[in-house]
Amino acid sequence: MSPGDEVVVALDVGGTGMKCALVRPDGATVHAERHATDAARGPEAVVGTILDVAEGLAGKARADGLTPVACGIAVPGVVDEARGVAVWSANVGFRDVPLRDLAWERLGLPTALGHDVRVGGLAEARLGAGRDAGHVLFVAIGTGIAAAHVVDGSAAVGAHGAAGEIGHILVRPDGPRCGCGRPGCLEAVASASAIGRRYAELSGAPATAAEVTDRAAAGEPLAGRVWREAVEALADGLATGQALFDVATIVIGGGLAQAGPRLFDPLRTALRERLTFHREPRLVAAALGDEAGCLGAALLALDTLAKESR
Ligand SMILES: [Zn+2]
Repeated sequence: MSPGDEVVVALDVGGTGMKCALVRPDGATVHAERHATDAARGPEAVVGTILDVAEGLAGKARADGLTPVACGIAVPGVVDEARGVAVWSANVGFRDVPLRDLAWERLGLPTALGHDVRVGGLAEARLGAGRDAGHVLFVAIGTGIAAAHVVDGSAAVGAHGAAGEIGHILVRPDGPRCGCGRPGCLEAVASASAIGRRYAELSGAPATAAEVTDRAAAGEPLAGRVWREAVEALADGLATGQALFDVATIVIGGGLAQAGPRLFDPLRTALRERLTFHREPRLVAAALGDEAGCLGAALLALDTLAKESR
């Protein structure tokens, strides 16, 4: 067996789909597949699918003459990485699922369980847009907003597995109510879904965040206002993040990052206006797209393997 034959079985489980891959230790993906999560079936069925897919991937690796050495699984929600437990997830329905041990038993491979955004940040910090930065804040902006603070290649987990919930920084005390129950959280104002919601509320017509961005760029005043409000709230959240973490690079990922300069130009300016003595971080778009979760799950599994063999 040569080291080039080794692969990690990696899964990134989301509310609607699972991105799955065989990843080499250097981060190269040698095989990728996608499956439906179909969360409506309930958490037990989802766990069954995760284990079947992981086992199938390990079998595929062996059939191709590769050696699966570890398994990494990323899930959303609250994740206790030390115990390998998916503690809570709103969109997949996990409640205290010992997913790491279940996969370890089924596959006979050392397995690591991670949080989707934290491992995404791990991948961006080590292989993507934050490479060589040392201190990176990865912020994923889509349906919600979450972040990962990565220092020297490892992401802070927090005492309760809930570090990085930047989407629930209070930015507008009199703002719209957040999914968590409190009014004014960053993600209730500036997530892609919040932007679409706000525009619909003011215009009476539904729109996606991408449509709001386009209309704002085309000079539509209402869309421009909604976009500006969102960018300002984001800058407030990022300024708080920078005050806490003093990072070299902020990597923005998720659907909203696809707005490109329409997001990054005004956001950079708004963030600069809010910083006093803090150093301005480099603000860049994520580089790995929706592969980040899978690559990060593989990296986490390799880290675990390295710790075990020490
Ligand atoms: Zn909230």
